[in-house]
Amino acid sequence: MRVAGKSAGAGRAASRSPAAGIDVAAVRRRLLAWYARAKRDLPWRGTRDPYLVWVSEVMLQQTQVERVREFFLRFTRRFPTVAALAAAREAEVLRLWEGLGYYRRARQLHAAARVVVADHGGEFPRTLPGLRGLPGVGRYTAGAIASIALDLRAPIVEANSRRVIARLTGHDRPLGGAGDEPIWEIAAALVPRASPGAFNQALMDLGAMVCTPDRPLCGTCPLGSLCVAALTGGADRIPVPTAARPPLRTRERAVVTRHGNRVLVEQRGPGQWWEGLWDFPRAPAAAKSAGVRRLGVVTYTVTHHKVTCSVLERRVRRATKPGPGQRWVTLGRLGSLAMTAPGRRIAALLGEPDSRRI
Ligand code: SF4
Repeated sequence: MRVAGKSAGAGRAASRSPAAGIDVAAVRRRLLAWYARAKRDLPWRGTRDPYLVWVSEVMLQQTQVERVREFFLRFTRRFPTVAALAAAREAEVLRLWEGLGYYRRARQLHAAARVVVADHGGEFPRTLPGLRGLPGVGRYTAGAIASIALDLRAPIVEANSRRVIARLTGHDRPLGGAGDEPIWEIAAALVPRASPGAFNQALMDLGAMVCTPDRPLCGTCPLGSLCVAALTGGADRIPVPTAARPPLRTRERAVVTRHGNRVLVEQRGPGQWWEGLWDFPRAPAAAKSAGVRRLGVVTYTVTHHKVTCSVLERRVRRATKPGPGQRWVTLGRLGSLAMTAPGRRIAALLGEPDSRRI
């Protein structure tokens, strides 16, 4: 294989580049031709609006494409422009995000929208450093907006394109964190000046549809004859798996304090999981709980924690003053509150029709 075409790191530096040995021109040509006939039909495809590209890319981080479809349409119907998002209350943004998880993304999206409106007159910055200056916009998101919406020659590396590049180049070292640096360098060398957005999306689509984690379809892959892993029979060994963190199992108790038709809820504070969302107060698993009845058990996973939560209900005669971050709400209001995933499931145990809106 050979280095072809002018790319980042081409010329004399190419022999020392991780992209050395790749027929860059052939990869670009074949991938773009394949993309033109096989690309996925997704609601955010075809747009060059930086705002829509940005929303889709943020949603796609750590969430499956099929799940993002519906959320993207709902979110952008309510907030069709960056100005509309910037003007929204955070509670409404979080409520629309509910079900996608990783709420930090929603908060940063909201914060960045406000920065775009306040500091950039409602227009997205048109450079990579400018985009990186927005809250929550990292290397990947900036590269996606820059290449897809602004036609800038910027690379992107996410799970799918990373796998394709690792296999294409026979990169058999662990990936993730600093281990991704060589992949970024190769991605930068591969992305063409013309159609950088289509090329980046083609890499991602190829990884999702052909170069899948298990049983990649090398026989029908447009990169088959250029791919080190396919030519050496090593596709199933690349990428090199990283050791999974063992799950940490914990127990907790949620106490639903109820006064007539109202329940006490608590907003998660800074640094807590699901910051800004509502849930029911927790008590230590060993805490004594007199005068309560057991409603059920909710299990959930968050990061590497597997949590078993016993749900208790305590009925009170008098509505006490809520503690910090707490408030009383009617059961009917729970459905419109931005709640954590376990909080929503606990609400469903309360048995009121309105609280079962999940
Ligand atoms: Fe992936 Fe196989 Fe295509 Fe190589 S030839 S990029 S391993 S699907």
